[in-house]
Amino acid sequence: MTFSSRTKDELVRTPMDRSCCLISELAAITQTSGSLGFMGGGRFTVTYEVEHVGAARRIYRMLKEGLRLSPSLHVVEHRRLGGQKTCVITVRETDAPKLLTVLDMMDGGIPMLRRSVPRGQLNRQCCRRAYLRGAYLGAGSMMNPEKGYLLEWVAEDASLAQTLDRVLEKSGIRPRVSERRGQQVVSLRSGQPIVDVLAMMGASQAVMEMENVRITRHLRGNANRAANCDMHNTDRTMQAAQAQLEAIRELAEDGLDNLPPALKSMAEIRLKNPELSLEDLGACMDPPLGKSGVNHRLRRLMALWEKKHTGGVPSDRKEDTVD
Ligand SMILES: [Zn+2]
Repeated sequence: MTFSSRTKDELVRTPMDRSCCLISELAAITQTSGSLGFMGGGRFTVTYEVEHVGAARRIYRMLKEGLRLSPSLHVVEHRRLGGQKTCVITVRETDAPKLLTVLDMMDGGIPMLRRSVPRGQLNRQCCRRAYLRGAYLGAGSMMNPEKGYLLEWVAEDASLAQTLDRVLEKSGIRPRVSERRGQQVVSLRSGQPIVDVLAMMGASQAVMEMENVRITRHLRGNANRAANCDMHNTDRTMQAAQAQLEAIRELAEDGLDNLPPALKSMAEIRLKNPELSLEDLGACMDPPLGKSGVNHRLRRLMALWEKKHTGGVPSDRKEDTVD
């Protein structure tokens, strides 16, 4: 089962204890997955179509237990779509006006699944959370966080996208609103806002799973950075050792006998042991020498090599003397 549908499983189990929130959630579901059917003579029905069975049961219970209506629920199997199922909940013409009045979706006796929600409703934090939950059940999905951070709502029209945008903004979250194949997509694309929204909607299990993924990713990222850093340092050490070795080989072409004895023995030992670390080189010396002593002598050898190449002129004035 996908992370997205597991999250829906969790959301449909959240309690429906406040009537203000029940209306807010149902309003969001009606706007995202409801449609009107006109029967003539001013009569109409409201139909909800959802794929998630748990969401369908929740809508049914909201209508029946929350609003005391008599909806019907049946499942349609699409043979053409490989047996994919859609749950259809219908509110008949006898109940539909009552439903839309409660949801404030009647305008002068005319049903409108208005794409905006009354301001008063969205001023309450509890109802904003319920609205986001309803909109997620009706039109939301999210990517498995192990693959990437993406939670989105697909809205049929711009004003529904605007409402979602406003509700999120009031909760301190700034979504991205874009268009995809004629539909509006409201999306969150980073970890923190997704965790915040999951928490607001009441999906605490999903929040925990998501936090685990984020921690693992963070640790893995740190380990990679540390490994890259080690590799970088090793590269630099090897490059420096290689440059020294080449310099000493060049000096040796002229013979090492005219070097001071301390540098002569250092050069000889380096030439014989090109792979040794500074500490190990020091241990080969007689008498043994510490790392900084080895380093110092190698630098002096490098300086001699540089002097040879620049004709005795310090390296920062090298360019002036070339030709
Ligand atoms: Zn509320």
